Amino acid sequence: MNYLRRRLSDSNFMSNLPNGYMSDLQRPDPPQQSPAPVLSPGSQERRPPPSQSTGAGFFSSISNAVKQTTAAAAATFNEATERGIGSSNAKILLVIDDQQTDCYSVDIEAIRNGNKITKCFKPDFVLVRQHAFSMAKNGDHRNIVIGLQYAGLPSVNSLHSVYNFCDKPWVFAQLSRLYKQLGPEEFPLIDQVYYPNHKEMITTPGFPVVVKMGHAHSGMGKVKVDNQYDFQDIASVVALTKTYATSEPFIDAKYDIRIQKIGDNYKAYMRTSISGNWKTNTGSAMLEQVAMSDRYRMWVDVCSEVFGGLDICAVEALHGKDGRDYITEVVGCSMPLIGDQQDEDRALIADLAVAKMNQTVPRTSAPTPVHSQVNTLTSKLPHIFST
Ligand code: ATP
Repeated sequence: MNYLRRRLSDSNFMSNLPNGYMSDLQRPDPPQQSPAPVLSPGSQERRPPPSQSTGAGFFSSISNAVKQTTAAAAATFNEATERGIGSSNAKILLVIDDQQTDCYSVDIEAIRNGNKITKCFKPDFVLVRQHAFSMAKNGDHRNIVIGLQYAGLPSVNSLHSVYNFCDKPWVFAQLSRLYKQLGPEEFPLIDQVYYPNHKEMITTPGFPVVVKMGHAHSGMGKVKVDNQYDFQDIASVVALTKTYATSEPFIDAKYDIRIQKIGDNYKAYMRTSISGNWKTNTGSAMLEQVAMSDRYRMWVDVCSEVFGGLDICAVEALHGKDGRDYITEVVGCSMPLIGDQQDEDRALIADLAVAKMNQTVPRTSAPTPVHSQVNTLTSKLPHIFST
């Protein structure tokens, strides 16, 4: 695990952004840095092929971080493998944090002495850093989450919460509950209307509104609508998506707020659009870390209690030009890291995962009576492992 910690504290990405400024967030990913080769006694040097970049959306600039974490975990996994899985003290942490990585029983194909060999491992603990579901192509990994839960694997965040985060309005319903408990002063949740399908989209209270279609990330499927005619147009698009939609007032925002919690560590950020796009996660934006107020801390603390508890989460809000705050969303352990404290955040996540794993996984694991298996992988891990 020390190796994992070391890799997670590398600082070779995003460090080119001075003072937390995020330059053009839609630029293609910078070339991937290959993880250091993993050497073990008697083994050949292994170098992973360059990762494929998806490069979409606001957080594309930090996908390196995500991929590096995957590579670090893969390397650690590999080291553990070489040391001998099955030894009673060895524990395997599976990090799921790339959109192609969706496995819990890993078949590794490798060439040894000219022969192709396949190994299979079962992780002891899972760290989920990837969206389990997105309406984008190949974005549905809920079957894997079910498999992990079926196998009884402990994880950060809990698999129960990961599954519950697969529908944004379902999560928003939890926020509505908090709003009812705490009131609008303490917990200023934005007004939202839920439409189970396009047929219900007759009208919305007031314009302009933001219509959010289905379960999508990185600003996808979010449209600003100025009048009833445009609303009807968007309803016809929702009809094609065959899913639900929500609408909420468009807030003329001064800046976005993000309050994140990783274990006991809290950070708050303010994000302002530079390019003028109303979605500050699209185009150029400026990011600044701001002081953690009691109010922000309370928001994230109450949100971290949903779905039985979230070890990693963030609250997103808008600060309007009217001087008021509007909480829009809570995100779970798939939250992308932002700002110039990412190295620290990665180390915190690694420490949290290791601490939870030590807490929950007994020294000698008892065999599970339930057998669930995924044999075919679309994962990048096997490629990382390949010689
Ligand atoms: P992410 O994956 O980054 O959380 P997302 O797909 O969940 O993005 P939102 O965060 O809901 O999308 O919205 C994207 C951006 O659009 C926000 O960062 C914010 O700048 C802007 N935005 C969202 N809702 C509103 C609103 N009601 N009024 C004004 N701006 C909004």
